[in-house]
Amino acid sequence: MRLLEEKARAKSQEKERPIAGWPSDAQCPLAFAALPPSVIAAHVSPLIEALRAGCGHGRVSTLEAMALALAAGGLHCEAQAAQAGSAGQAGSAEQAGTAETVPCSLALRADASALLTALRPLVSYVQAVSQAVSHAVERNEAADKADAATAAATAAATAAATAAWSAALALVPHLAPPVGLRRCVVCGTALSSPLRMAGHLAGKKHIDAVAKAAHARGPPPEPLGSEAAAVGAANAMLAHSDRPLRASAAWLVEAPDAALAALTPHITEQGAPPCGD
Ligand SMILES: [Zn+2]
Repeated sequence: MRLLEEKARAKSQEKERPIAGWPSDAQCPLAFAALPPSVIAAHVSPLIEALRAGCGHGRVSTLEAMALALAAGGLHCEAQAAQAGSAGQAGSAEQAGTAETVPCSLALRADASALLTALRPLVSYVQAVSQAVSHAVERNEAADKADAATAAATAAATAAATAAWSAALALVPHLAPPVGLRRCVVCGTALSSPLRMAGHLAGKKHIDAVAKAAHARGPPPEPLGSEAAAVGAANAMLAHSDRPLRASAAWLVEAPDAALAALTPHITEQGAPPCGD
């Protein structure tokens, strides 16, 4: 235990020992310089304004801070003030704690002006890039609005054409559905019984599906009420409803459904068979 304590004490002393060749804190205290807050508050940074309009007031970039320091003619140096106070050069504690001002020479002002002038190409570049980005964003937004307007117009035209087809198709007499078919490949409906297929084909869901197919694959509908409209609707019903349904019957109709559909008319004619207990 004692050995450990001695080792810890030695380690502690080793940390406190100054590095060889480095000045001590008393010889060279840490120093910092600061611009007067009033100078910063009155400054408007053209670079920060170029980066984000409205944010440059009271803010400075590093280069601008250097220029402001030169233009102000000196900096408030805490270390120097402290040293002067301790050496009795300041004359009073009040003077030691206040900013040391150096008369601004014309040369310093010229240097400050040169620094700010050197900043102009960068400000111009940032402004040009910002404008290019802004214009690109505006163009993209305009293109998006145009695309949205085109899509809306297309959707409205499609809805109108489909509605016209639906009105025309509703007047077309249906052919008898394939015997035993209870799945519709036109609109995707699955029925509980093949006996419901005739009613399904006359329903709105099926008619609208045929109308969409007619609009997508055929010419626009003729004005409702004309002979051409009736012929066009009949052809559309044949192409987009009757033919696909009959083609699907070969692989969709199941034997029990076909038997039920075939027997139902005879059962209806002869009456329902008596229920035996
Ligand atoms: Zn259907």
